Amino acid sequence: MPPNSQPTNSNTRRHGSKPAVVQQIIKKMKKIIKRTIAGTLLFAVVGIGGLVTLIFYPQSLFANKFEHNQFTVYYNKDYKIEKEAFQVILDNAYEIVEKSGLHNPDFKYKVFLAQNNIFNKIEGLQGCDVIARATAWNIAVKKDIDLKNNRMYTDRSTVDLTVLLAHEMVHILQADKYGLLNFSPLKHPPMWKLEGYPEYVARSTYLNSETYDLRKEIQRFVSVDEDIKIETFEAVEGHFMPTYYFKGRIMVEYLMDIKGMTYDAILKDPRTEEVVFNEMVGWMNEVKGED
Ligand SMILES: [Zn+2]
Repeated sequence: MPPNSQPTNSNTRRHGSKPAVVQQIIKKMKKIIKRTIAGTLLFAVVGIGGLVTLIFYPQSLFANKFEHNQFTVYYNKDYKIEKEAFQVILDNAYEIVEKSGLHNPDFKYKVFLAQNNIFNKIEGLQGCDVIARATAWNIAVKKDIDLKNNRMYTDRSTVDLTVLLAHEMVHILQADKYGLLNFSPLKHPPMWKLEGYPEYVARSTYLNSETYDLRKEIQRFVSVDEDIKIETFEAVEGHFMPTYYFKGRIMVEYLMDIKGMTYDAILKDPRTEEVVFNEMVGWMNEVKGED
């Protein structure tokens, strides 16, 4: 060390006592910050992990359950469940879904009556304000239900519970057959294919009724102004749904019943929604012309 550096050194040392303390404090603070960040991260990871686990396995949040055939129904301690009425609804929904090509006789469904349960909020983190939702093997029913009358009532709609459950069950079968990762909120087929098929299956009783006519349904849809059906459409009398549920249903119905396609083929079909829709309207006009 050169001699002339001495004053500088002592100078440094003189002032050095302060920086040393400051440095120590900084060191300590860094440690604390590091620990806090690590702690927060750990907390976040555990927290998010816990929430994700609860979304898939919410059983512990429900005090009561009953089993019926392929179903386990979970509900709150104070909920007076009309079990027999519910069993009939479950059986009818099962019978509808059984006819779907995706039906899996080994599959066990878990139904959670989540209204007034914390699970409603937790599973709601997946986004979208819905009345029921299928996630993996779970069906969350998110609003009050009237089991005796097989209904759910929302602000604007009266919903058929059997159809609602059948719809959600088909979502579960989609994920079962094509993989959870291909039918998730993050990755899924176009909405008309995603929602159209469960609607098509769930409403099969109505679609097969004597008075039902697909051409008239397409006509009913195309004759309504765009701005009226921009968000919702009256899928069946008294039940307004996001428009793509209905549009998807008539399109899937057209492809399966008129064109003889399977759901597999529809998923693989590279054509756009617009192309398929226009082809369907063309078919409606053609057939109408023949009348
Ligand atoms: Zn759906």
